[in-house]
Amino acid sequence: MTDLHRPSFFIDIDGVLYGGTAPVKQGPGVIAYLRQREFPFLLVTNTSRMSQRQIFEKLTGLGYQVDLDEILPVSLATVEYLSTRFQRARCFLIGDTSLEILLTENGHAVSRDETPADAVVIGQSLWPHFGEIDIARRLVEGGAEPIALHRDPTWPDGDVIRIGLGPIVAALESVITQPVTVIGKPQRAFFDAALARTGFVRAHTVMIGDSISSDITGAVDAGLRSLLVRTGNSVTDPVPPGCDGELASIAELPQWCETHFGI
Ligand SMILES: [Mg+2]
Repeated sequence: MTDLHRPSFFIDIDGVLYGGTAPVKQGPGVIAYLRQREFPFLLVTNTSRMSQRQIFEKLTGLGYQVDLDEILPVSLATVEYLSTRFQRARCFLIGDTSLEILLTENGHAVSRDETPADAVVIGQSLWPHFGEIDIARRLVEGGAEPIALHRDPTWPDGDVIRIGLGPIVAALESVITQPVTVIGKPQRAFFDAALARTGFVRAHTVMIGDSISSDITGAVDAGLRSLLVRTGNSVTDPVPPGCDGELASIAELPQWCETHFGI
């Protein structure tokens, strides 16, 4: 960091605050530290299998003291996008029931079979299959907008790295001609929405994440600062150009703040 402005933080969740079912060591204490020292923060996540409330309940269950509105999941950003774009969208959904519930709770209709749709929505599901891609292709040909919550290649499930939405998005892309609208990180629009929501200053906001491809590259491209933590996706890759540094884990953040800001 080259200036002395106090930073605000965007903090990724999966692979930063927890991995699978366990909190990252000292993670809850770091959030308490930020609150106590009045460093503003927002938790921003591409997690699409849990609603804002489910993420809140998981975090509080792991000892994190956070408020519901301190969490911005990509699922919520997607609902807002659909509402703005279609008001009430007819969605063909490739994704699990938590996303289906969120969409219907917000006035959108969800189908799982081949009926006319405004949007094909791709979220996380444990076992997507090619029959869904087959239907999605025809619906897109018929005018539905293909929308993916993100296109992360992988996600960390405790000690196991699982495939994310990237391979599913790639499969659909290979059989359609129009681009897929991507909502979550690393899209600049997602960071812009998070900045607008919080009022944080772009140049003084530090994105803390474990994924080079979605957290760090996205933050750099959006004009934010960034710190890479080594507790999730990108454990051994070199720190990419434009990134402000690395932490072994978020437990090192208080030390980093004290080194850079003397507080
Ligand atoms: Mg992550």
